[in-house]
Amino acid sequence: MNCSKVRRLLSSYADGELDSRARDAVELHLAGCAECRNELAELQADSNLLQAEPAPEPSPFLAGRVLAAVKRAPAVKRPSGLVAAVLTGAVAAVLVAVGLWLGTTLGKGVISQPSGLESLLTVNAEPTLGSYYSSLLGGE
Ligand SMILES: [Zn+2]
Repeated sequence: MNCSKVRRLLSSYADGELDSRARDAVELHLAGCAECRNELAELQADSNLLQAEPAPEPSPFLAGRVLAAVKRAPAVKRPSGLVAAVLTGAVAAVLVAVGLWLGTTLGKGVISQPSGLESLLTVNAEPTLGSYYSSLLGGE
């Protein structure tokens, strides 16, 4: 193995990432090559410097900023928009159900029903409708 091949492997060798065959070849070369031994010593010194430097503490505001960025992201907005649409649909369905209930309770004066349903829904509504209007007018 020549010097340039060994130099390419030195970083991996220093990190213990070489398989045993490559490691043996590098060590065999290092035993007879002072220049590559120096190169390895420099690599290890740099690596020790990097490891001695502590990782920087994240800002206390980092979590808030990340959450704000996630909320602004369109990829996240789409599902919540879908949920909102489903909820709006559910609310609309409830409103329609309430409207139908009001329609059956108060009669055709409040909500006009399709003519087929109208006769079904207003059969028992006339007395209620009458008392509703008379209570509105202050009578009874
Ligand atoms: Zn060498």
